[in-house]
Amino acid sequence: MKNNFHTHTARCGHAIGSDEDYVKAAIDGGFEILGFSDHIPYPGYFRQGERMHEEELEDYYQSVQALKIKYQDQIKIMMGLEVEFHPQRDPEYLNFIKEQLERCDYLLCGQHDTDFGGTDFARGGNDEELRQYLQDVEVALSSGMIAYLAHPDYFMITRPNWGPLEDEIGEGIVALAKKYQIPLELNLNGVRYHKRHYPQGDFYPYPFPAFWQKVARENCAVVLGYDVHDPELLRDQKREALILDQLQGLKLNILRDWIPAKKRPA
Ligand SMILES: [Zn+2]
Ligand SMILES: [Zn+2]
Repeated sequence: MKNNFHTHTARCGHAIGSDEDYVKAAIDGGFEILGFSDHIPYPGYFRQGERMHEEELEDYYQSVQALKIKYQDQIKIMMGLEVEFHPQRDPEYLNFIKEQLERCDYLLCGQHDTDFGGTDFARGGNDEELRQYLQDVEVALSSGMIAYLAHPDYFMITRPNWGPLEDEIGEGIVALAKKYQIPLELNLNGVRYHKRHYPQGDFYPYPFPAFWQKVARENCAVVLGYDVHDPELLRDQKREALILDQLQGLKLNILRDWIPAKKRPA
């Protein structure tokens, strides 16, 4: 079965195409299920080009819902969001996430920022922020609301090496995935950052082989995520081959038939 639960829309400010373009491309690409999971807006905070404004959320729900119905004979469409947990925020934010779960089929956790307006690991992040990343992931995975953890090794975009701290964080993530029985996403969008030079070799920053060795060792559940910000990438699927090539030799437990189950807050 070919499914993808990680699909963005132009509302986030760094994706292109209409919502319907993603549906048409998924049909052409042979997908049976397409799940939309645009970045959750931050209530009361907006940074251009990062995520939709909170006032766009209603339109997002209505648009995806309309496409669900329009294309029901050709493809199954699911409603989701990619959410970020910031436990240091007011509890109102956690309630906001819970409200979205009520309206969605599933939520993905994809931590990019340390806070509203905080550091994005695509631009930086110090050791302390990396430790906070693991803590935030634990809050997310223990919440009972998360279907899978998107790009668990996203932080490698700006880390020059897989050193002792990266290793500790990687072990921590794998332990959490096992403890809470939550799949880890093998994200195909790391290709867009091109190969970089690390002491271990030339790699796309994620999925980073040293992390996925641990995932393979522990036989964690793995789900592929296209993380598309351009509909054409659902038609042209070269990225999957590039990513699997980078992880050659690892026996990963990739669940091709996985479908998110409806979750409830713990
Ligand atoms: Zn994005
Ligand atoms: Zn993401």
